[in-house]
Amino acid sequence: MAPMLRLYNTLTGAKEAFAPIDPDHVRFYACGPTVYDAAHIGNARPIIVFDLLFRLLRHLYGSAHVTYARNVTDVDDKINARAAERGITIRELTDGTLAQFHGDVRDLGVLSPEDVNRPGERPCFIEPRATDHIAEMVTMIDGLVRSGHAYVAADHVLFDVPSMPEYGQLSKRPLDEMEAGARVEVAPYKRSPLDFVLWKPAKPGEPAWPSPAGIAAPGRPGWHIECSAMSAKHLGQTFDIHAGGIDLIFPHHENEVAQSRCCFGTGVMANVWLHNGFLQVEGEKMSKSLGNFITIRDVLKDWPGEVVRLTMLRTQYRQPIDWTLRGLEESSRVLERWYNAAGDEPAAGDVPGSVVDALCDDLNTPAAINELHRLSGGPEAQPGALRAGANLFGFLMRTRSDREQDQVAASGIDVPAVEALIAERRAARAAKDWAASDRARDALAALGVAVKDNKDGTTTWTVAR
Ligand SMILES: [Zn+2]
Repeated sequence: MAPMLRLYNTLTGAKEAFAPIDPDHVRFYACGPTVYDAAHIGNARPIIVFDLLFRLLRHLYGSAHVTYARNVTDVDDKINARAAERGITIRELTDGTLAQFHGDVRDLGVLSPEDVNRPGERPCFIEPRATDHIAEMVTMIDGLVRSGHAYVAADHVLFDVPSMPEYGQLSKRPLDEMEAGARVEVAPYKRSPLDFVLWKPAKPGEPAWPSPAGIAAPGRPGWHIECSAMSAKHLGQTFDIHAGGIDLIFPHHENEVAQSRCCFGTGVMANVWLHNGFLQVEGEKMSKSLGNFITIRDVLKDWPGEVVRLTMLRTQYRQPIDWTLRGLEESSRVLERWYNAAGDEPAAGDVPGSVVDALCDDLNTPAAINELHRLSGGPEAQPGALRAGANLFGFLMRTRSDREQDQVAASGIDVPAVEALIAERRAARAAKDWAASDRARDALAALGVAVKDNKDGTTTWTVAR
């Protein structure tokens, strides 16, 4: 019997046993990037956490029985503004930013659609783009207007929040508090300050599509309707898990729920709502004005993606995380220890039950990592089990030897020069020419190489750290 997965559900405010609607098909949606700028490490957190959940679901239910959809928002005010600022087309900006995002997350060990989808089979990982789903959004908006949940005003279509009595159920905010928050600069065409945009007219030069609800002027969708349309198309009108950052609970997810439930007449949009906690940098909120704004690309210049991934997962996903240099250094030491313990042994046997059990407890990654520590040294060391457990996390995907070779390649060290110096040093030692031996040793150190003389008389070397 498979271990029981328990997840904390924002909708009910409790940790619950997870039971998919269709036991043969788990359906999971996560809000993906808005592709206007390089992704920062705060964006990396949900991507890594939900990648781990995707891996765990595949492990528990079988890879053919899980569908993960992570969308791309490629129509947005910020995108239009940035493209205009840089003097490039919107498509050039979104394609370029998306390509960079894909490169960044691949370096973080995050699975991509190409890694998991098999030709001729139902795709396991879908990455829908908003601009490919405008027709579905228009259909939904028309339906909401017809059923009295949305109205047209000044060429906008607005969702009529008071038409949905259960609005606020996900974020658990009292209506008057939400109204007070929304009252700042209320557009004059809104009936209630809480009403939100489903569709708006496009400004000249902006991307535009034929509008719904009989509006003559071309326009474009609001952000919230994108996720409602894409999740319904790819996962169904009600599905299992909807995930995103804690900052998306209100208004984005609350609005998604309102649109989807009112459009489809369903009792829930998704059964389980998962939200990851905030990320701070060295104890401060990350912001461009504080100068501590770190992109994924920046951090990958100094640290291997595996170190960044481990740093993110050493904190349980719902807790706030403080991103520090010390944390990265600690992760680097941990990985060094694991690589040395696993050596070149292949993964052996099943993923250790203790690791799976820890992850099944609402992705308790600190507990699961402790289990990997236990398998990496002392009397309970089991190199094959360590690798099997680490692989489920997306760690130790290479052997120690392969990793060392990669480190040599990445360091730009001149390998023939190193080999020549080692031969020179060996000859000098054989001739008891200690001065020449020391010169060769110093030259190797200057090249960034650590030399190790083994008991069997051979000499090996690695990149010095
Ligand atoms: Zn969304």
